[in-house]
Amino acid sequence: MQLVSMEIDGFKSFAHKTTIKFQPGMTGIIGPNGSGKSNVIEALRWVMGEQSAKTLRGGKMVDVIFNGSKDHHPLNRAVVKMTLDNSDHYLQSQYSEITVTRKLYRNGDSEYLINDHRVRLKDIVDLFINSGIGRESFSIISQGRVAEIFNGQPSDRRRIIETVAGVAKYKQNKTTAEKK
Ligand code: ATP
Ligand code: MG
Repeated sequence: MQLVSMEIDGFKSFAHKTTIKFQPGMTGIIGPNGSGKSNVIEALRWVMGEQSAKTLRGGKMVDVIFNGSKDHHPLNRAVVKMTLDNSDHYLQSQYSEITVTRKLYRNGDSEYLINDHRVRLKDIVDLFINSGIGRESFSIISQGRVAEIFNGQPSDRRRIIETVAGVAKYKQNKTTAEKK
């Protein structure tokens, strides 16, 4: 599985639709302070189903929508699309190429799509669960997170170990089954 491209439109500092192609061999994104490097990573987290505005350095989820700058008016919605090459079927899906889209409007409405089919947030979370790259994964470590892990409660550390070990999926299935 390989991240092929991302399209960011109206998310955080991306007022204009921006496509980033992840060519083989690409190892980093560089740029001046405040140029949007962290916003790219947050767009990636967001499209994979992140539900915590705080993780995305915001107060409310609508804070991810471009809120205006000196030369551009605020926008009404944020859209992030991510395209993955899944020809090795690393992600459990019939598709060899997967495009996941998330949209959020200022009134709070959201849309989630997998290859242009409307899906639930749960479908997106399930797609990435145990893949090592989903919203609960530790393949993305943001600034300050390392200290947070070391200074955290033992129960938080246990949750991290369970996620890394791949048992989080079974815990989630158990909780869902118990609710039924
Ligand atoms: P550093 O090198 O300091 O880590 P960076 O390249 O990671 O910087 P980001 O944190 O990604 O930069 O981008 C910060 C910029 O994004 C700020 O200028 C901030 O105003 C802008 N920004 C964040 N949210 C929004 C939003 N909703 N609308 C418009 N601009 C936003
Ligand atoms: Mg940054």
